Amino acid sequence: MTEEVFRSGFVSIIGRPNVGKSTLLNKVVGHKVAIMSDKPQTTRNKIQAVLNGPSGQVVFIDTPGIHKPKHKLGQYMREVALRSLAEVDLILYVVDASAKFGAGEEYILASLEGIDTPIFLILNKLDKVHKDQLISLIKAYTSRREFTQTIPVSAKTGENTEKMVSLIWEYLPEGPRYFPLDMVTDQPERLLMAELIREKALYQTKEEVPHALAVVVEQVEQRPENTVYVSAGIYVERDSQKAIIIGKQGNMLKTIGSLARQDMEALLGSKVYLDLWVRVKKDWRQQDRDLRLFGYVHE
Ligand code: GDP
Ligand code: MG
Repeated sequence: MTEEVFRSGFVSIIGRPNVGKSTLLNKVVGHKVAIMSDKPQTTRNKIQAVLNGPSGQVVFIDTPGIHKPKHKLGQYMREVALRSLAEVDLILYVVDASAKFGAGEEYILASLEGIDTPIFLILNKLDKVHKDQLISLIKAYTSRREFTQTIPVSAKTGENTEKMVSLIWEYLPEGPRYFPLDMVTDQPERLLMAELIREKALYQTKEEVPHALAVVVEQVEQRPENTVYVSAGIYVERDSQKAIIIGKQGNMLKTIGSLARQDMEALLGSKVYLDLWVRVKKDWRQQDRDLRLFGYVHE
């Protein structure tokens, strides 16, 4: 007898404004939209919603900054966005099937060059187009690059959206339930903060400890004077990895903490006091129960 695996992963929804990204997400997740953080999140992915299935979980994230930059910060955000697109499990590139192929789409396609993440081309607003028009539009897109799947949908009527979801599941790796089923509202920020720390740790250590690293944000507390106290732990599997993360005289950990804190402050719009520590926890990846503890576990 084969045991059914639990699948989970991060899916980034990209596309020009007004193509129907939000409508599509609402259609797919429906009233089950468990989380929506309305705080401005300037530099990182915004977690939009979680879809819980019988044997898996999809975390939909919005990747701001894919559009043509209008200013310097835009350029920076673009780089961050592109990096994050390389890290998600799947990209849904949503386009308006009732609109002509234009310069905005050229720009996004150029941005996607060199990204190996599977990409679904989602042609939305199917209810507004004739078949002939749809076929020639699909040609226009697919002649520019290969897509993992090409799926016409209507977010408005729901046509073909279930098919899209079933295909999404197929491209997710085996993984933990990142979010509890009864999501509470401060969870997405915790997860995001954990992700920030993890990103800094991996980057600063030049990925010397790649798969063995998890971050859990244990405590988030509002303090006076617009300060937020955050206590977070970096978990590794071996003492040697712990030594790398801590660094000479604790310098590595200081750098990681300081960079993560700056991003958290941008995320939360307040000052952050970050209490960051490192702990060795052998074989945490095997310990399913403990996985739930981790805000972000990504391999
Ligand atoms: P976003 O900017 O990409 O998030 O786009 P929105 O979800 O806000 O949708 C932009 C507009 O397109 C809204 O007026 C939606 O009602 C409309 N829209 C979205 N999906 C569809 C669709 O499948 N069919 C039609 N006819 N309109 C849609
Ligand atoms: Mg929107």
